[in-house]
Amino acid sequence: MSAAESDKPLKILVSGDVEGRLSDLYSRVKSIQSKVGKFDILFCVGEFFAQEASENAEIYEYISDPSLVPIQTYVLGPNHSSRYKYFFDKSGCDLCADKIIYLGPKGTYSTLNGLNIVYLSGFEKKNESVKKLKRSDDSDTEEFAEFELKDIESIINNYEKRNAGECIDILLTNQWPKNVENLSNQELENKQKSENFGSELVAYLAQKLKPRYHFSAVENFFFERIPYRNHQVLLEKEKHMTRFLGLAKVNKSNKPKFLYAFNIVPAKSLDYAELVRQTANPISSDNPYSTNLSLKNDDGSQYYGDHDLQPSKQYFYDADYIKKMNELQEQEMLKQKRKLEAMHKQEQEPCWFCLGGSKVERQYIVSVGDKCYLAYAKGALNKDHLLIIPIDHVQSTVVANEDLMEEIDKYKLALAKYFKSRNKCVLFYERNYRTKHMQIQVYAIRADKTYLLKDAFMSMAQNQDIYLDEIPQMTNLKQILEPNRPFFYLELPNEELHAGSRSEMDTTRYLCEIRGGFPINFGRDVMASEILLNCPDRIDWKTCVISIEEEKIMSQDFRKEFKMFDPAL
Ligand SMILES: [Zn+2]
Repeated sequence: MSAAESDKPLKILVSGDVEGRLSDLYSRVKSIQSKVGKFDILFCVGEFFAQEASENAEIYEYISDPSLVPIQTYVLGPNHSSRYKYFFDKSGCDLCADKIIYLGPKGTYSTLNGLNIVYLSGFEKKNESVKKLKRSDDSDTEEFAEFELKDIESIINNYEKRNAGECIDILLTNQWPKNVENLSNQELENKQKSENFGSELVAYLAQKLKPRYHFSAVENFFFERIPYRNHQVLLEKEKHMTRFLGLAKVNKSNKPKFLYAFNIVPAKSLDYAELVRQTANPISSDNPYSTNLSLKNDDGSQYYGDHDLQPSKQYFYDADYIKKMNELQEQEMLKQKRKLEAMHKQEQEPCWFCLGGSKVERQYIVSVGDKCYLAYAKGALNKDHLLIIPIDHVQSTVVANEDLMEEIDKYKLALAKYFKSRNKCVLFYERNYRTKHMQIQVYAIRADKTYLLKDAFMSMAQNQDIYLDEIPQMTNLKQILEPNRPFFYLELPNEELHAGSRSEMDTTRYLCEIRGGFPINFGRDVMASEILLNCPDRIDWKTCVISIEEEKIMSQDFRKEFKMFDPAL
């Protein structure tokens, strides 16, 4: 994504509970889009499916004909555990040809355009330590899907692990935060009070995560709170503000209002001062939650979670304290600034693999297509060790577009045929970890050794604590991997059942989602092992680098032999 593209505001729609009425929602969306143009994403907060299967017929109409879906849609989990059955996979799944995605009961999601989302479905669990909560649909006989403090902590921890320092653009919670209207001088419909139906844990989550927008649903009325500050005036450096909106359930006339439209530039592509400036609003209030939280641990004792939730107002007029806070914040900001500068510098460094870049080493290149090219790996393990590389800067398969993937498949097939003509089998893997530009590694092995591959990879994986899971043939990696998730993806050729019978692309696929570290040399290690290519002295690529002249000759030789298979010719 170019800088200009990522700065473009995204057009977002958020709706309240659908409860099966997807046609009403989508016709409202279509009428808005016909007036003001396409929107990028629709989020559905609250209950998506109705209780009765018969009331979900409209949803199934769209599922059976995805072409009718007018917008990329994301939905949250249910508030009633019985409705999980409508979601195919409780933990999150594609409901309709990638067009309607069920995010799961709780978690963190980053869209392709860089928007950071945190979401939570269900109701706060009632127990001794939490005051009895009344819910609008308490009369239901259905059992609630519930969350508790440990769920909130895990969301916060996961977010901090994955997106440390990044501002959350949108928080979506089915249940309202308790006391959100405090300090706003605004009233909820019919003088209701969110302390009667809101969740203290949701308030805590919002307080900790400081999203730019927070949407809730379930209560069937519309409420737009004036923005609230995430810093204490005079005591803390200015921060961005949060806007909270409660949305009604989907209805024909949009009265009460169930659909909210807004533009947003992902925080990721703004510097923080700009973000603060953009969210600033002269009509705003102090944070509604800070003085009202009284979370209890399971044993009934006061729960603080983190120090910044402890009462701090008592220090308000303590000049030394303010001075110290400011110094600390100054240091923190300097640290952030240096980090940003370092990242920026890294991004500006020319890439080794961008074909248009100044750093690309042309002697390695053996074939150039429209979207990708084929090159020898620097310090190749042997003469069969190549790389398929996108011409433009693309991070990995997960964010690659269809044209690119199509051409990569052509190259894979061509290589399979080429190696087959030499009585060899080809295998491919991609490691999206400590790489910036996607590379698909290509290795070949004598056909009669094909049966050794699986064991060789599996036993090395076991030795190095790597979990390689076999994945179904037709699985699209884009559907199972988040864009930022590091991974190792392997395609091994299946062995021949009868001599000469296997098709070139008959493969078994393996995936390792990388959490924490990964041995950089894993694939090469396996291939160099005794039972496969038996060249343990060539494991380190740096010892295998040859002169530019030798490289040129090697590439020329390959080009000649590959000529009749080359998809670019
Ligand atoms: Zn690049």
